[in-house]
This record gives sequence, C-alpha cells and structure tokens, in this order.
Amino acid sequence: MRDAEAMLTIGDFARASRLSAKALRRYDELGLLPPARVDPFTGYRYYAEEQVERARLVAWLRRIGMPLAEVGRVCERYAADPEAAARAIRAYWAGVESETAARRDLAASLVDHLKGTTEMTPEITNGMTTETTTPVSALRTAVRLDRGRVRASQQDAAHADPHLLAVADGYGPEGARAARAAVEALAALPRDRWTARSGEVLDALEDGVRGAAAALTELTGSGTTLTAAAWTGGRLAVAHVGDSRAYLLRDGALVRLTRDHTVVQALVDAGELDPAEAADRPDRALLLKALDGGDVPPEPEIVVHGTRPGDRLLLCTDGLSAVVPTDAIRRALTGAGGPEATVDALVALARERGGPDNVACVVADVAPA
Ligand code: MG
Repeated sequence: MRDAEAMLTIGDFARASRLSAKALRRYDELGLLPPARVDPFTGYRYYAEEQVERARLVAWLRRIGMPLAEVGRVCERYAADPEAAARAIRAYWAGVESETAARRDLAASLVDHLKGTTEMTPEITNGMTTETTTPVSALRTAVRLDRGRVRASQQDAAHADPHLLAVADGYGPEGARAARAAVEALAALPRDRWTARSGEVLDALEDGVRGAAAALTELTGSGTTLTAAAWTGGRLAVAHVGDSRAYLLRDGALVRLTRDHTVVQALVDAGELDPAEAADRPDRALLLKALDGGDVPPEPEIVVHGTRPGDRLLLCTDGLSAVVPTDAIRRALTGAGGPEATVDALVALARERGGPDNVACVVADVAPA
C-alpha cells in the first residue's frame, strides 16, 4: 500500500488537473480515473502524482465535448500508444465538424422551406389554410438491384413507390437482412404520412428511420446505410445515414443532395484532405454513421429540396457512386431513356468497371401529371 503522505489529496489533485472534486468522484465511479488509494477508515481518496497527466487529458477531452465513454477509450489508447490517441481525437473532431455541417445544411433547407419557394398551393378549408398538393406532377420510378460480378451475395436493398424512394447498403454477416429490414420498416409507414403537409413528412421520415433502427436491434456486428426520399408533389425530403447517395438532375446538371457520413468525407470537410484524393483512399468506405442496432440510433441528416417537372432523381448505393465516375452517371441520366432503361444503363456501367460491389439504384422522374 502506498504511503498517503507522498500522494495528492482529492483537493490538490483537483487543482492540479483542473477537474472538480465532484467530477473526480464521478470519473472514479465510471472507472475512468480511479484514485490510487482510498483510506479504508476515512474513505478519503488519494491520487498519485503520475495520474495528473491522465487527469489533464480527461479535462481537455471533456472541454472539447467528447462523451465520457469515448474519453475512456482515448485514455486507454493514450497509455499504450499516444499516436493512436491523437488519431482518435482527430477522427472524433472530424465527426463533430461533419455533424455541424449537416445541421447547417438542414438549417438552410428549413430557411428555404419557410420562405416558401413551393409548388404547393394554399387552399381554404373551413376557414383554415391548409397546404395540399396540386396535381401538377407525378413521380415515375424504376428500381434495380444488381449483385455485381464479385460479391457472393446481395446485401443492398431498394424501394420505390410514387411517394417514397429508398436504398440501403447492408454490411456484416447479416447485412442483407439489415438492409431489407431498414427499407421495409420505412415502406411500412401508412401511405397517408407521405402525402401529408411537408412538415409532417419530415416527422414521418424521422419516424421511419427510427423504425428502421429499431428493426435492427437484434443484429450484432451488422448494419446498413439508409437513404430515403419522400416526395410530396412539389418537394423532396431526404433522410440519410451512411454513404449511399441521392442526386438531383435538373437542366442537365447533377447535384448531390446528400453528404457521405464517412471518415474520409469528414476529413475533406475539415480541410484536412484534398477531395481529389478522397476517392483513392483505401478507407473511403469507413462509415461515421450507420444504422447498426446500437442503443442510440443515429440522427439522420435531413435535406429538403424543391422539385419541378423535368427533374430526375437518383438514389444509389456506393456500388454505383464509388465505382462509376460522376460524369458518366450524369451522362446516363441525361440519356433519352425512361427510368427503366436508365437504371439498366447505370447497372451496366458499374458492371463494365468490374462490378466490384452490389448496386441498388432508384431513378424517378418528376413528370407532368
Ligand atoms: Mg456497397
């Protein structure tokens, strides 16, 4: 047993580490920073001088907002390999910045939404103004799944109906089940939830993603991406977790509506990686976010975008977007074919490039009704 005289009292240790005594007691309970000695009679806690460094690390990590569980993991890494701890902190911060960027985009979407560049017309019903869809357009869809030329099984899933489009890319031993369950949970929501006012559609999308996450709780070590788009007649609301993508083709220009939830994308967002190098990174598929049946389902990123007749939408998994260059995808989408011919053309492009991964893709045309 160490001599208490050579050790720091909790008060001295709190001052040296800039953590409060209350925080120190809590970190002790969590096993994050146990005292070197607890007096068996008085219950006083004593800390060793060499614990100050770890305590300061904990204090700094808390100051940047890192959750306690993650702090514990970084501290363990720091003890064995400070370089690995540095990488973990960098990855955490890249995730925070990516999350902030997603919230910024949602805020911008909502501002646009409230400013009302809408094709929906207000209608007076019983003296109350309600927003209803005008029959200016309808969605014509096609969906295609392709196993590719290398993979032994199909772990992607897709869905398309006149109001809801979705693709999912499963991973892990039960990836196929995860992707299917996620898409089915979303498609199982009552149809009238997709034809409601746009604010309610956002709620429906969130409920759908939550339902998808709940459907995966029994799967361990498996999960899925999910990119879903609800179309309300004049507007598209996209909910997104992972690295599958949604694109909008308008007047020949292809706009990506989603941001990949990958470590590589977060590094690009943080200015630490040149976008041109991102595609060649071996870790480009490493996801920051996915539906994985964890206790805390990830918040989907939500984007709202106005649509008009003549627009074409594409939802796809990375078996297409990571394999076929964006310009080739754009050319296939701009071709004369309808949605069915276009999904075939997209799958053929992925196969021409070796078809290394499963492909799920949905093409939907906003057509005059
Ligand atoms: Mg894939």
